[in-house]
Amino acid sequence: MDTIQVTLPDGAKQEVARGTTSADVARKISHGLAREALVAQADGELVDLSRPLERDTALKILTSKDPEALQVFRHSAAHLLAAAVLELFPDVKLGIGPPIDTGFFYEFLREQPFTPEDLARIETKMHELAAQNLPNERKLLPKAEAVELYRQWNQGFKCELVEEKALEPMVSFYTTGKFIDFCRGPHIPATGRIRAFKLMNVAGAYWKGQEGNPQMQRIYGACFFTQPELDEYLHRLEEAKRRDHRRLGAELDLFSVQEAAGPGLIFWHPKGGLVRKIMEDWSRDEHLRRGYNLVFTPHIMLLDLWNTSGHTNFYRENMFGAVEVEKADYQLKPMNCPGHILIYKSRLRSYRELPIRLAELGTVYRYERSGVLHGLLRVRGFTQDDAHIFCMREQLEAEVQGCVDFALAVMKTFGFSSFEVELSARDPQHPEHYAGTVEEWEHAEGALTRTLDRMGIPYKHMPGEAVFYGPKIDMKLLDAIGRPWQLSTVQFDFNLPRRFGLEYVGEDGARHQPVMVHRALWGSVERFFGVLIEHYAGAFPLWLAPVQVAVLPVSGKFSEYAKQVTAELAAAGLRAQLDDRNEKLQAKIRDAEMQKIPYMAVVGGKEAEAQTVSVRHHGKGDLGPRPLAEFLADLRVQVESRAIS
Ligand SMILES: [Zn+2]
Ligand SMILES: [Zn+2]
Repeated sequence: MDTIQVTLPDGAKQEVARGTTSADVARKISHGLAREALVAQADGELVDLSRPLERDTALKILTSKDPEALQVFRHSAAHLLAAAVLELFPDVKLGIGPPIDTGFFYEFLREQPFTPEDLARIETKMHELAAQNLPNERKLLPKAEAVELYRQWNQGFKCELVEEKALEPMVSFYTTGKFIDFCRGPHIPATGRIRAFKLMNVAGAYWKGQEGNPQMQRIYGACFFTQPELDEYLHRLEEAKRRDHRRLGAELDLFSVQEAAGPGLIFWHPKGGLVRKIMEDWSRDEHLRRGYNLVFTPHIMLLDLWNTSGHTNFYRENMFGAVEVEKADYQLKPMNCPGHILIYKSRLRSYRELPIRLAELGTVYRYERSGVLHGLLRVRGFTQDDAHIFCMREQLEAEVQGCVDFALAVMKTFGFSSFEVELSARDPQHPEHYAGTVEEWEHAEGALTRTLDRMGIPYKHMPGEAVFYGPKIDMKLLDAIGRPWQLSTVQFDFNLPRRFGLEYVGEDGARHQPVMVHRALWGSVERFFGVLIEHYAGAFPLWLAPVQVAVLPVSGKFSEYAKQVTAELAAAGLRAQLDDRNEKLQAKIRDAEMQKIPYMAVVGGKEAEAQTVSVRHHGKGDLGPRPLAEFLADLRVQVESRAIS
């Protein structure tokens, strides 16, 4: 017999007849594996279980325990969607249908838009077809026949794809029910296993992503191996909706974007403004404590400055247009760096002054297309917690450590416990793509890696991801529901010191060029505020809350004592709000809960007599009566220690 050798992941070897399929091998191993098998990995390549093995092969049978099988699974779900749509809407024209991060989509050309009712019908049909356990069958056709097949079926986009993409004379197809796809595969054997999915939405997309091409309708679905995984994903989506900072921003009266002023420009309302003041106070104090100097620079400066910095070359499309004043062009600043450089350059610097750390809550304006603007997260005007460090090479490592340590302090103070770090390095194959010498890059990348290693911070090394002017580290913090947010950046710059001819006089009396580091911790006040709102779902910890205590008299009879309590809280530096409306206590409590005020102090006859308050905590409910003085002292400790809960 003509045999081949199959090597399994545990090293076991099997002699099998040439042409045996992975499904046959799975059956030999166990019935359980045969039942669970989705796809095979033959010499590292994903293939259908039904594909005959023609030579000695290292084989792994993948099941729903193997994440590598998930993309194949989702791709098969996309085919199931197309099959269902063809049953219900036989005249649609088929586009493409790949797996994506959380599921799949398939795109169709159809005159009428798909409605939510259509999606529900399609989803039901998908479940029907899944229950029939239709096989996903692979076929090979000569290219010309393949084109002819789609031509007769009047599927122009598919003809186009076969003509462009089929490189070999034989073309592979997969059929699922009435659906025939020009597709490389692989796929899972049949539709029966696809149960945990949900159609999410329809979005328009140009054919092949090119403007002017026909507008396809993409039906998106979420899809996982199991129902609990799908449920968890849908729950996370719900949570994200509940935490949406745009909705909470309006409900809690924190900020707005005004049509009358233009998109992407933020109005901070009194309560948001108060949180911002607390954030900024902390930031400025902490900068001073860490040896930074606070500076302020103009919002508009001569356009020529931006020619010197090079921004008009590589950053122009993100800049607002220039403004002419007395025959000179001025530019609204998209970045703070040139301003800080001008302060550095305002006189000759000595090595004794270095490092110089200039920090500014610097407001910048960047042109972002209106389509990408998003609440506080993508805006056109924002205030960076920006700093630029000018130092000598031998000071670099300590400065990087200082920046990372500061970033960690931000996370801890504002209540984030986990984060991820990425180190973007140059592509060593292409030194010509970068400003600065190979030696400078090695030194800077070395300073970054050594610092992270020494501090015991794990990071992802990303060669080729650096921008042209220097390596950087990015820190992404993870919020309460595990979403990553890119905030802090420590970025080297070998470009600007050269363009601006920055110098210092060294110990040797000669002129040297300082190293420059750009650094932002929050990224911007707006963005960080948006992240805080979502992280806390609007229920800020006491020290950040715009209103810390709602004082709630049980009736008008006790308004005198309620006023006294409010005044004493205020005198202790706490932000208290008296609710003396003529409303039922339950309504007042409900409103304070809706406003996510951390504490409620309920006062009536008993409390007035005993000089106590009945304390309620947002989310924790009734905490019982406390002497007023004790309650006050307790809150002060929480505020001063910036306690998180
Ligand atoms: Zn496909
Ligand atoms: Zn900068």
